[in-house]
Amino acid sequence: MSKRDKFLVFGAPSIGQSEIDEVVDTLQSGWLGTGPKVAKFEKAFAAYKALAPAQVAAVNSCTAALHLSMVVVNLQAGDEVITTPLTFCATVNAIIHAGATPVLADIDPDTFNIDPDAIEAVISDKTKAIVLVHFAGRACDMDAIMAIANKHNLIVIEDCAHAIETEYKGVKAGTFGHFACFSFYVTKNVITGEGGMVIAKHQQDISRVKMLALHGMTKDAWHRFSDTGFKHYYVAECGFKYNMMDIQAAIGIHQLASVEDNWKCRQNIWGQYQQAFANLPVQLPLEPELNTKHAYHLYTLLIDSDKTGITRDEFLTQMTANNIGVGVHYLSIPEHPFYQQKFGWQPEDYPHAMKVGRQIVSLPLSAKLVENDINDVIEVVTSLLSRP
Ligand SMILES: *Cc1c(COP(=O)(O)O)cnc(C)c1O
Repeated sequence: MSKRDKFLVFGAPSIGQSEIDEVVDTLQSGWLGTGPKVAKFEKAFAAYKALAPAQVAAVNSCTAALHLSMVVVNLQAGDEVITTPLTFCATVNAIIHAGATPVLADIDPDTFNIDPDAIEAVISDKTKAIVLVHFAGRACDMDAIMAIANKHNLIVIEDCAHAIETEYKGVKAGTFGHFACFSFYVTKNVITGEGGMVIAKHQQDISRVKMLALHGMTKDAWHRFSDTGFKHYYVAECGFKYNMMDIQAAIGIHQLASVEDNWKCRQNIWGQYQQAFANLPVQLPLEPELNTKHAYHLYTLLIDSDKTGITRDEFLTQMTANNIGVGVHYLSIPEHPFYQQKFGWQPEDYPHAMKVGRQIVSLPLSAKLVENDINDVIEVVTSLLSRP
């Protein structure tokens, strides 16, 4: 017998009537592609990050944002880019697509963020950049990482897919590095269905991102086909097709307006889980570090079967059988056959990421959850992890 009669979809977004109305307005406007709503969304996002509008560019995914950032850095074959083994595959794939060689540096076993000492240990004369991930929305140790980057003259790219609201010592995540990349995928904190954003320290980098995101053309369609007169475009570089549509931005504008309300909802759920699970034989997330703002993107447990009597995978099966959607963020990158074959990486080479990746579970943490949903999660988790 399952606990619930309706499946609780992991990461289901909270969508309001204003998102729906704005999408309908876009459909009726006749302009569906990249246009005024994308410009409005970019402006709102820049304001949220306290940046100039010319420092942000909306694209169609965080993966595209990562790829474009690395293309703009002009990475060459043989250049090395250091990143974390506990991330979504897109972080590593973008490095490969940009023509560089990814190098992994293990995580800190308590924060799950890339360990600055491990970064130092793998720096070589080929190292050009560091791509860090603020895991689950917890800020990386930016003082240490920026000190390393400055000392070795490295580009820093922040993968902020979990970290739209994150702050470190009063500074917003994404404004430390040369570039930062955000995701508006359906399960993220702000959603557009599919979508992403690049922000850059230097405005000329964003100009190039925008051009590369639309085939390398000098003028985008909105500016070519609007009523200010016909204009030719010229292809200045071999670009990509990574632009965001107004239909997506229509959702994003209202999602961004709710970002703090939704954050408070998730903070509240996170706190309820912390209390409810305090006495279970599992490793809970650390409380957010002093002087930081956690984005509460993921709430994770580490399930050690020696302590719980249930394996992580059996726990996943049981949660799903009880109609509660769960996630794994993430099996460590070296668990995947492609990277083993291509780079010779083995999970054991990054023992902290391996252990976390084999024990971690993400519980539902969406602003859409109602009190009954939260209580169901707490009840099922507690019954599965309380040894008789
Ligand atoms: C979701 C995610 C991505 C990819 O985002 P998309 O918008 O789906 O391309 C990249 N990195 C991390 C850490 C993510 O969680």
